[in-house]
Amino acid sequence: YQPKLDLRHGHVHQAEALLRWQHPEFGMVSPAEFIPLAERTGSMNSLTLWVIEEGMRQLAEWNMRGLHLQLSLNISADDLHGHDLAARVSVLLQRYRLSAEQLIFEITESAIMRHPEQALEVLQSLRDCGISLSVDDFGTGYSSLAQLQRLPVQELKIDQSFIRNLDETSGDAVIVRSTIEMSHNLGLKVVAEGVEQERSLRLLERWHCDTAQGYLISRPLTATAFEAWLLKSRISS
Ligand code: C2E
Ligand code: MG
Ligand code: MG
Repeated sequence: YQPKLDLRHGHVHQAEALLRWQHPEFGMVSPAEFIPLAERTGSMNSLTLWVIEEGMRQLAEWNMRGLHLQLSLNISADDLHGHDLAARVSVLLQRYRLSAEQLIFEITESAIMRHPEQALEVLQSLRDCGISLSVDDFGTGYSSLAQLQRLPVQELKIDQSFIRNLDETSGDAVIVRSTIEMSHNLGLKVVAEGVEQERSLRLLERWHCDTAQGYLISRPLTATAFEAWLLKSRISS
């Protein structure tokens, strides 16, 4: 779980779930390695359902302890066809007695662009359940702005390649500032991912970016470590 920092209020009430595989022989396997494998072997749908259910179980546990968080979960291109994701998610929401407002589903620009029409249908059905939607890795795919306007999304995540070496005068600065402004004009919230430097954070604040995520704030943590981090950051602020 990686904290997402609300830049306007300066606190954390959101996190992104990032999957880890602790393999008995190979040690820690990165999702960059096993997600493509799961896609190739047709196991992505069941993996996604596992992630969603585990995320919901964790949210319900935190709710019980008075920690009310909004959790972002990554879904893959394969989830936009092959199973009725919205129906399955609805069942799980009931089972864990969660409000759909506690969930954000992230989908990359390139996954949406693989089958735009089909993606639109699935995203709309998820949105109809009350789940918020986010475009991940924005700026690296090939979606047109016309396409973006048609999607029922509430959030854009600017890809970390634009954030990493952010300074006031670089080309990235122009892209990031313009993306923030465009998103706000479209009524979308903006997240900057991969924030590693204090300087970038200050610029993002100045440009009214809504949310920042990155190693500067915290690396992804286990549920227990995340909870401890959150309590500590709330006490010290
Ligand atoms: P993503 O969703 O764009 O997640 C952001 C990635 O950037 C994560 O890598 C995160 O650990 C890393 N990151 C966060 N802050 C920083 C930073 O400041 N600097 C740098 N260099 N990196 C940072 P991770 O966890 O290895 O995940 C990689 C990708 O794997 C994710 O990219 C996502 O596309 C995919 N993934 C992870 N978990 C899941 C999952 O449960 N389901 C699906 N379908 N995909 C997942
Ligand atoms: Mg993501
Ligand atoms: Mg990303």
